[in-house]
Amino acid sequence: MGIRDEIKAGLSPVVDLVYPPRCLSCGVPVAKHGGLCIDCWSELEAGPEEADGVLSATLYNDASRQLILNFKHGGKVSLAGLLGQMMAQRLPDALGPGAPILVPVPLHRLRLWERGFNQAALLARELAKRGKGELSVDALIRQKRTPSLGGLGREARKEALQEAIAVPASRRALVRGRDVIVVDDVYTSGATSAACVEALIAAQAQSVRVVCFACVAQDRV
Ligand SMILES: [Zn+2]
Repeated sequence: MGIRDEIKAGLSPVVDLVYPPRCLSCGVPVAKHGGLCIDCWSELEAGPEEADGVLSATLYNDASRQLILNFKHGGKVSLAGLLGQMMAQRLPDALGPGAPILVPVPLHRLRLWERGFNQAALLARELAKRGKGELSVDALIRQKRTPSLGGLGREARKEALQEAIAVPASRRALVRGRDVIVVDDVYTSGATSAACVEALIAAQAQSVRVVCFACVAQDRV
């Protein structure tokens, strides 16, 4: 993928240099760049067993929420490596022609401009680097800006997302007959992932799983 495509896909954020080394979550000094302090590590909880095709590195709690906030809104893009590493541990190695396609949950391009990067695309790239599949950053697109889903009921939310997320015509041949892994940072109600899965199945993907860094325990939704 050329640098222009990477920029288009939101994969080339400004590199953030952290010096001296600090915990990427709470900021206390630590020995090495790119890690967490012992306290923050110990507050992370392992994700649940795979359920309905959803794999999660951690359970969504204060510690994982703080990491995601720092990653998405705190300018700590270097967290992609750490979060991606933890997600990669949940997936088997998959190289060669039968490898799954890694597809980030898409951001609308206006939101991409605002934020400067798609956090899900950065995580998908980390998984590809670690031999978990073939990266395809644009196999799903968001055709229109989804209104804030907070105030919508379950059905309205589903409908808004289904209209918004699709496999573009140029990527249908790539998706057909393949195993696909949808990548996201957080799995909450599952509405966004469900819209992604539906679009991929409509494009004749052979199977679709979802991998995320943190998932909200379903009894807490
Ligand atoms: Zn810490």
